[in-house]
Amino acid sequence: MSDNIIPAAPKVEPHDAGQSAKLNWLRAGVLGANDGIVSTALLLLGVIAAGSSTGAIATAGVAAIIAGAVSMALGEYVSVSTQRDTERALIEKEKAELRDYPAEEHQELVHILRSYGMSDDIAHDAATSIHDADPLSAHLRLELGIDGEDLTSPWAAAGSSAVSFMLGAILPMLAAILAPRESGVWAVTIVTLIALAITGFVSAKLSDTNPVAATLRLLIGGALGLVVSYFIGTFFGGVVD
Ligand SMILES: [Zn+2]
Repeated sequence: MSDNIIPAAPKVEPHDAGQSAKLNWLRAGVLGANDGIVSTALLLLGVIAAGSSTGAIATAGVAAIIAGAVSMALGEYVSVSTQRDTERALIEKEKAELRDYPAEEHQELVHILRSYGMSDDIAHDAATSIHDADPLSAHLRLELGIDGEDLTSPWAAAGSSAVSFMLGAILPMLAAILAPRESGVWAVTIVTLIALAITGFVSAKLSDTNPVAATLRLLIGGALGLVVSYFIGTFFGGVVD
């Protein structure tokens, strides 16, 4: 094929932090939706298979959505706040070091720049010019991999994971309450698998990986989960009756 002979144009890789942050948010949103779909669908299928009334199914679904959204938000809030506290502490420490030991910090930067392949002289000049301008942000990025201006807000992270969980969870929930009772199991199963196929495809596209593999993994995992919770539901339904 001609594609193999003519070298492909270099792929444009915009080193745009804002862009990649946006992609990360989107990926996190898709993962949250996935959680919502899977956990709510499995719970509902178990409850339906146990022969519960429509009222009990709806109650269980609402409880599952609230519990899941709260626990996602809380988990995300705690993890992002912890990370942010750690980053803030590191920023303060780096600030103090730059203030108290400027010569050592300058030398440290020379070392780092040399490790990127710069010659001694160039690394020295570069470090000097960085230290004359904005040494803190360079030290944070090169030494610690922190972007000092781009600290994620824990509230935003918590809110978006709760919302994405609920958006995912609402799909099997609607299938469970809107479908006629005798076809509830199938309605939840089909809606869940379609929703998982969509989130699998979208998340693969967002991460630039093979959509077929990602989608299949999710579908197989989801289907196995549904089968297990169906049989557990049927079993407990039989026991309780
Ligand atoms: Zn430093």
